[in-house]
Amino acid sequence: MFEHAKHAIDEQWSDPASDLALDLTCPDCGQAYSGAQRGGGHCHGGKYGGCCQSFRSQRTADAHRTGPYNPAGQRRCLTPDEMRAKGWTRDDAGMWRAAPPQQPVWPA
Ligand SMILES: [Zn+2]
Ligand SMILES: [Zn+2]
Repeated sequence: MFEHAKHAIDEQWSDPASDLALDLTCPDCGQAYSGAQRGGGHCHGGKYGGCCQSFRSQRTADAHRTGPYNPAGQRRCLTPDEMRAKGWTRDDAGMWRAAPPQQPVWPA
């Protein structure tokens, strides 16, 4: 009963990109990631200035950027510690996924 209910929640919340092939590799860190449009993808480091983390969904990738958009360049990536503090986890493929919502979120 409990297992079934938990499974149902996982299904409901599962990111749509869970089964994407990891068809690209980051030249900076060597991590494989999906190049599919809604796959979240990889935050390129090196000259791109990203954090070299991969994300299961575009929503999660977007959410790992924080700070104001301004000429001073204060927009930045969350650190792994900050992402863990939000309840995010890294799955077997080394990709971050956001924590399930505690309550209904994001109005349509
Ligand atoms: Zn990043
Ligand atoms: Zn990388």
